[in-house]
Formats: sequence, C-alpha cells, structure tokens
Amino acid sequence: MVTTHAAMGAALVTLLPLSPRFAAVTALAAFLGGVFPDLDLLVGEHRRTLHYPDYYALGLVPCLSLAALRPLTLTVVLAAFVGSAALHSVADAFGGGLAPRPWLRDDHRGVYCRLGRRWLHPRHWVRWDGAPEDLALCGVCVCAVLLGAEGPIRALAVATLPVSIAYTALRKRLPELAPWLVE
Ligand SMILES: [Zn+2]
Repeated sequence: MVTTHAAMGAALVTLLPLSPRFAAVTALAAFLGGVFPDLDLLVGEHRRTLHYPDYYALGLVPCLSLAALRPLTLTVVLAAFVGSAALHSVADAFGGGLAPRPWLRDDHRGVYCRLGRRWLHPRHWVRWDGAPEDLALCGVCVCAVLLGAEGPIRALAVATLPVSIAYTALRKRLPELAPWLVE
C-alpha cells in the first residue's frame, strides 16, 4: 500500500541519528518520497513510469555523499526523498503482482527495472497490497514514527492508519467497486 511505503520511509529516517534541526523535515521528505512513485497510478504506467528500483538506488549514492559532506536541509531532505522512493520501488518487487486481483498470483510483473529492461517478478512476501500483513507492516512503521519522531510527521503517520484499514477491508472488493483504480 502507498501508506505503508510512506510510513516505512518516515520510520527508517526516524531511526537515523539525525541532527534535531533536520529530523522533522527529513521525516516529512521521506514520507513524500514513499508516496511519489505511486503517482504513476494517475499518469503513465503503474510500477513503471515513476518506479525506478535501479536509478533511485544509484541516485541515492551521490545524494547520501552530498548530504554527508554538506549536511544542509536541502541535501539531507533530497537524500531522504530519493532513499524512500528507492525503498518503495525495490519493496514493490517483494509484494504481489500488478493484476487487479494479485492474490490469484496471475501476473509476473512486480516492478519494472530499466537497467535490466524487464519486469522484476513479484516475490509475494507481502502477498498483495492491502493484505493483512501489509496493514501490520504499516502499523509497525507508524509506531516507530510515533516513538522516535517529533513534529507534523506524527499526525501524518497516524492519518495513514484509517486509510490503510479501509483499503485493507475493501481491497478484495475493489475490482468490482472501483475497476478504474486497480486496472
Ligand atoms: Zn509502488
């Protein structure tokens, strides 16, 4: 779920020993970086147009180097955003396939890898987006944010929970309720 990706990015940043002057805004950047790839639900091809498991990960190296050498708000925020987008894109390969009913395991497309010019196969560690384990993972990440973060990210993280619970409850009915969303 996009909410899990967002909360996971924020949670990971929360675990880092960041200076307090960067921590709040960096967690927000990671939250947004976790959302960003799934904007290709709105434009382009989902899990391909804005998902770059390869290029985000490669881009993270100079971003992290820059943030370490010049720890300014801009460089740290950029590294957090790209890192969270990378984590999202890679994590999609460990979820379900792209078809409307991923629990059927009838689709080999997990996320597109441009360097390999092929789709990475879904590993089904999280069986599908909106599976109970997806919700549980989101809950753990929200708890990590609440335990470790300060500022508006806390409210944002908590706000993902009702959305995630509703999505999880409705996910298996979405192909009938909102075919435009899943197809
Ligand atoms: Zn995604």
